[in-house]
Amino acid sequence: MAEPRYPLLSLSRLRMEIDGPGVTTLVAGAGCPLHCRWCINKTLLRDAPAEQVSAGELTERLRVDDLYFRATGGGVCFGGGEALLHAAFLRRFRAVCPSEWRIYAETSLQVSPELLRLSFGAVDAYIVDCKDMDREIYRRYTGGDGALMEENLRALLDAVGPDRVLVRVPLIPGYNSMEDQQRSVEKLERMGVRRIDRFSYLVRDNQEEALL
Ligand code: SF4
Repeated sequence: MAEPRYPLLSLSRLRMEIDGPGVTTLVAGAGCPLHCRWCINKTLLRDAPAEQVSAGELTERLRVDDLYFRATGGGVCFGGGEALLHAAFLRRFRAVCPSEWRIYAETSLQVSPELLRLSFGAVDAYIVDCKDMDREIYRRYTGGDGALMEENLRALLDAVGPDRVLVRVPLIPGYNSMEDQQRSVEKLERMGVRRIDRFSYLVRDNQEEALL
């Protein structure tokens, strides 16, 4: 089978306690199935040329922070676009990188159940941006299928347990209200999610034009 490669857009080093415990490097990759209205990476995801790297090559580039990762219990966060589109790569990376490095995946869970299952065992913790748990708000904001996200979230909780899943619940200007956000939090709690991060998207004055 061909060696899986990762469409690398950028690396962001020395992030402190942002993705999880310790120092992490964010590895931004191309590709996302959603079309979120306020996506700050839209142009990058669509137009930027991505370098295709192997798991071994990426490990060598990230090794410069090996001591920080080991000393702080940190590691590598895959995100930018949709990390789980690259589940086969994540498995390969887990196999070749130092076992002490923690691996995080930023995901909307808008992927096939097969890709989600492929990531089990490779990812130490998942950072899920659920957008909104109301199907209609979700569809209007992302163009995606909230039922698929919800089904995958249940499967993820069953497979890895709630301690390894952080769900981010945004207040999205023009799309949901604080009451909607609260309803999402309550629904997530009923599903067994224990780690929830509420926050607000900040939309710049000129962002609407920039994103059109
Ligand atoms: S899921 Fe993230 S990367 Fe994808 S379109 Fe939405 S905001 Fe952008």
